[in-house]
Amino acid sequence: IEEQLRQSQKMEAVGQLTGGIAHDFNNLLQGITGSLDLVNRRLTQGRTSDVERFTAAAMASAQRAGALTHRLLAFSRRQPLKPTPVDANSLIASMADLLRRSLGERVDLELVPADGLWPTLCDPNQLENAILNLCINARDAMPEGGKLFIGTRNAHLDGQHAGGAGDMRPGRYVCISVTDTGMGMSPETIRRAFDPFFTTKPLGQGTGLGLSMIYGFMRQSEGYARIESELGKGTTVKLYLPHHGGQADASEANLATLPADNR
Ligand code: ADP
Repeated sequence: IEEQLRQSQKMEAVGQLTGGIAHDFNNLLQGITGSLDLVNRRLTQGRTSDVERFTAAAMASAQRAGALTHRLLAFSRRQPLKPTPVDANSLIASMADLLRRSLGERVDLELVPADGLWPTLCDPNQLENAILNLCINARDAMPEGGKLFIGTRNAHLDGQHAGGAGDMRPGRYVCISVTDTGMGMSPETIRRAFDPFFTTKPLGQGTGLGLSMIYGFMRQSEGYARIESELGKGTTVKLYLPHHGGQADASEANLATLPADNR
């Protein structure tokens, strides 16, 4: 609990800082893109093709920077998430091509979707970002190549289970797990992995923000993120997103009909 408090205080501080910067930065960017747009309009009369190319490149960079500030704003909670009912299986399936391209040839991606998966309630764009981030981390953990599984399942956490996992609220969740056969993490790395700016990657390669952004997204979605990892064996990151359907805890009787391994 103390650990969690420390973590959320850190997140709060980083959130405020990034939110403030992202907000002001975005205003500056609008000045830049607006001016570039004006330059472009003048140019179309004069036809100076080199200059046109340069302004187009500057515009593209400014737009990418804009997209980055939007992610930072979402991270700092200044931009509300848009939770909608999401079928995790189809969301993941629709990402398969993109993922295979990002993973390269040495990583073998396998999807393991559960039948009859419950819908979940979250922001689908954020969920895509989270899954992409987890896959990039998995790829980085397997420089020699390996296997990457993305699985889904219905998970019912009862009081006991929730108690065992520490702080998880009992109820129905959709669990998305990303498992790699990579280098794994030490207990110390697991402990700090969700900290903003914690990275073990060489300077310039890791920001240490991937997992902390996922942590923030899960907390805002009233879900949880968990890491299971063993050095030299591999890592599983599990995202628990709340089941969407209204009867979260009301129908305990129905739960008896769920197969045991779905609990
Ligand atoms: P970054 O990837 O920029 O370092 P993250 O917050 O995503 O930031 O990850 C923090 C750290 O957690 C990584 O530097 C790495 O040490 C560890 N980590 C994350 N995912 C994995 C993984 N799949 N296998 C091994 N280590 C991982």
